[in-house]
Amino acid sequence: MTSALPRARRVSTRTAVLPAHGRRHNLSLVLQMLYSVGAMSRADLARRLGMSKVTVSDLVAELMDSGHAVELGPSGTVRPGKPGTLVDVNRTGLQAIGVDLAEHEVLRAAVLDLDGNILVRAERPIGDDTGQSVVDTVLDLVGEVVAAATAPILGIGIGTPGIVGPGGVVGTAPNLGWTDVPLRDIVADATDLPVFVVNDADAAVHADYTLGEGGDDLVLVKVGRGVGGGLIVGGQRVRGAHFASGEIGHVTVGTDGGATCRCGKVGCLETWVSAPNLEKALAAADDDEPLREAGERLGIALAPVVAALDLSEVVLSGPEHLLGGVLRDALDETLHARLLARTTTDLTVRLAHRPDDIVLRGAAVLVLWDQLGVA
Ligand SMILES: [Zn+2]
Repeated sequence: MTSALPRARRVSTRTAVLPAHGRRHNLSLVLQMLYSVGAMSRADLARRLGMSKVTVSDLVAELMDSGHAVELGPSGTVRPGKPGTLVDVNRTGLQAIGVDLAEHEVLRAAVLDLDGNILVRAERPIGDDTGQSVVDTVLDLVGEVVAAATAPILGIGIGTPGIVGPGGVVGTAPNLGWTDVPLRDIVADATDLPVFVVNDADAAVHADYTLGEGGDDLVLVKVGRGVGGGLIVGGQRVRGAHFASGEIGHVTVGTDGGATCRCGKVGCLETWVSAPNLEKALAAADDDEPLREAGERLGIALAPVVAALDLSEVVLSGPEHLLGGVLRDALDETLHARLLARTTTDLTVRLAHRPDDIVLRGAAVLVLWDQLGVA
């Protein structure tokens, strides 16, 4: 099992040197430092956070009381005086639930540890079910994984298709037959646990950022039945005025028409790039031209996004046989051709880190962000 510990640079010194915003903030800083860097003594924590040893000891005591932190034993560091005891986030004593509602005809859920490793999985076929019957299946599935957890659960993260509004209400998710479903409250009422609901691409970008190799300024494009995106800018999640940031699938690309999209418009990005449309185009073609064109159209749509937000990474998540070769190269070329050289010298265009289970893992990361304040 690969453990994907985030690197030290994840800890924002910008945050650490701010004046204290109260106790909850300081507790989060301690957890974030431990989560990102790993176990350390109270003295090291105090030094790295610029807090007094008394303050840090007090914060650690509270985190141990609440079960969020644990002592691991004596530090191996040789220093004059008494060796410090290592403390760490309670990585094995706490778990999170991730749920992925965006797969084709199947709902998936898992119990994860705090490093994003999947411990237990479950799934339910939904076939052509829609509406309330899908809600019932979600509750049944969540009940199964909650019961399978072997440690206290920090919360439940859910990645769903569609736009998720305030309060975890799923606005419209046509494939599930949902309109204005208050999913967060439904699942929270049934489980008595904190619940976080986000769009599936939003969940995916969080997995790449916190558990993968993503930097602080990236867009992740998730290609499946549709095309969605998730954005991290300056290390913060971007939601947007309508909670729809990253929703680029139905932007029309170019002025030369194209195929009619399922939304009714002509020439949406999705008509070139979604997995079903790509498979169909490839089946009808003699060569890789549909992949090249999809990469180019994606580049045309993304170039202004990359420029406006000054992003350093474009990450693709989806079927590797579609995204990995010609499409990625065409996207890379198009972005470099359309952007100022100064902004593309370090622009990376790559596939997502561990794309399997990316929504499950990203949904669990959202729980960590909220409950532990770690990023
Ligand atoms: Zn469309």
